[in-house]
Amino acid sequence: MAVRFEPIGILHTCYKEKFGIPRQPNLVADAPARLVFTPEFAREEAVRGLEEFSHVWLIFLFHETRAKNGSWSPMVRPPRLGGNKKVGVFATRSPFRPNPMGMSAVRLESVEICDKGPVLHLSGVDILDQTPILDIKPYLPYSDIIPDARNGFAPAPPRTGLEVQFSEPAMARIREKEKTIPNLLSIITGILENDPRPAYRSGRKSDPESGRISGIRLFDFDLKWTVEKDVIRVLDLEDQEPPLI
Ligand code: SAM
Repeated sequence: MAVRFEPIGILHTCYKEKFGIPRQPNLVADAPARLVFTPEFAREEAVRGLEEFSHVWLIFLFHETRAKNGSWSPMVRPPRLGGNKKVGVFATRSPFRPNPMGMSAVRLESVEICDKGPVLHLSGVDILDQTPILDIKPYLPYSDIIPDARNGFAPAPPRTGLEVQFSEPAMARIREKEKTIPNLLSIITGILENDPRPAYRSGRKSDPESGRISGIRLFDFDLKWTVEKDVIRVLDLEDQEPPLI
């Protein structure tokens, strides 16, 4: 049986590349997103009543997960296990799955009705910019919270113990940008505290690439930082080149 879904909208987020995106929602609570409906689904009636809910489930396509030849692997290496131990794909939230669909419960900040239809303002996302959204459902605490659920290999949010420091120029740029991007300092701190490095590097006692300058594309800038021992230092926010036409 072939199944075909049409995306109902596109999610616009602050995460312009996969590197640096937190591995689950709400780890960076202030990370903003906007869901813009495609013309066919941009109907005010379709979201009527949604504003009564504080959180929604987003069901989405991992559109940037390119499995080789559409193939999939029954076992994957989750970052939570240091990236070197395999478990069954269905025991993980890995993007590399037979049907590459993701699900995230995120905060619904507001529902705006614009000329071209509704726009949902969201926060706490773990989703790449331009991701196709397949469905939205309200989060129902009475059913979705399961207090005695067992957590498998991910019993609590990852604790990296990393301290995030800022150079003076970086802090000045952040304060300037916060005029148009609210909570930017908290967003950057949250992303880096979650340790964006691949699991095989962050798990090591001494990182051979320590001191190397890394970049993460966020909003309209490239965040430059280095890590040494347990300290991540933000060096600067570099404006990005406009895309070539
Ligand atoms: N909360 C969702 C879930 O459980 O289905 C996603 C969890 S998945 C581990 C989160 C990671 O997926 C992010 O850190 C990012 O690297 C990746 N990701 C997010 N959006 C993506 C997209 N559109 N295509 C491919 N990978 C994506």
